[in-house]
Amino acid sequence: MRFLSGIQPSGNITLGNYLGALKNFVKLQDNPEFTDFLVFVADCHAITVPQEKETLRKNIRSLVALYLACGLDPKKVHIFIQSEVPAHNQLGWVLECTGYIGELERMTQFKDKKEKQVQGVSAGLLTYPALMAADILLYDTDIVPVGQDQKQHLELTRDLAIRFNNKYGDTFKIPEPYIAKGGAKIMSLVDPTKKMSKSDPNPKAYIALLDDINVAKKKIKSSITDSDNLIKYDEINKPGISNLLTILSCLTNTSIEKLEEKYKNSNYATFKSDVADAVEAELKPIQEKYNELINSKYLDEVLDEGRDYATYLANKKINKVYNKVGLGRKR
Ligand code: ATP
Ligand code: MG
Repeated sequence: MRFLSGIQPSGNITLGNYLGALKNFVKLQDNPEFTDFLVFVADCHAITVPQEKETLRKNIRSLVALYLACGLDPKKVHIFIQSEVPAHNQLGWVLECTGYIGELERMTQFKDKKEKQVQGVSAGLLTYPALMAADILLYDTDIVPVGQDQKQHLELTRDLAIRFNNKYGDTFKIPEPYIAKGGAKIMSLVDPTKKMSKSDPNPKAYIALLDDINVAKKKIKSSITDSDNLIKYDEINKPGISNLLTILSCLTNTSIEKLEEKYKNSNYATFKSDVADAVEAELKPIQEKYNELINSKYLDEVLDEGRDYATYLANKKINKVYNKVGLGRKR
């Protein structure tokens, strides 16, 4: 079975990315069912919204170092940068020509991100899901772990694959969504009804894995909660406290029920302080490893291997696709 996932280097990787995605990849890499385990840096996706050149470069490398610092093991995982494997964009174009504007316009992420653009909405923001479909379909991926926020894109991927297969004959494997157990959705610390997002303009809304530890702790302690001083999970009426319970539950591998019991006579200050300590305990070792890796040659070796392996797999597929569609000369 083949596993694939990617994260955009569009900002500082957050606790949401970590608890919703990365931490689960690290667990899954040991699953013997996966014959190929591919994790990439989705830099082409990142430029659907404006990016500064130097920042983008820095974020790409930083994300790779974080992949390793969080525990992805290059002996088990091929790590690569999307733009270094051109077949992603080649297939992306074919799939843009397979999808319809109407179905792309219906995507919630497009609608949300469109509203936030100040310098105009790029065409890429609309066609993004076709490129994401290419990422997945290039590798005959069996399992794509996605957060709730990406479920709609995966459904579109399936639709595009089925449409292409119907027209040109069996070409793509239809991928299954995989919502990881414990792959929780982490919410913003300033507006707990919105998801935590690394591209949020307000840094208080998220904990970045590379935040100064004291800054990170302060963000937890000053996160928005209600005022009834009851530590109970209730997404509707107590979204802030529920979010902190989810975070603590993921970080300490303790069920929400057990935490509710433990904190039933505590006040918010004590509870928040414990969440802050748990964040510190998780982030510290990650940051130490990150600092060892960020300027190392090892990181480049990992990326070279990943690029070569992914290119080998992806080129086989793109040749097949070009032949089916009738592009260029027969190969
Ligand atoms: P952006 O705001 O640039 O879209 P993002 O924080 O949403 O950034 P992505 O690169 O889009 O991050 O997603 C990377 C992975 O992290 C995906 O698997 C996604 O489902 C997951 N993810 C993103 N935000 C959260 C969150 N708040 N809680 C849990 N998982 C999340
Ligand atoms: Mg996102």
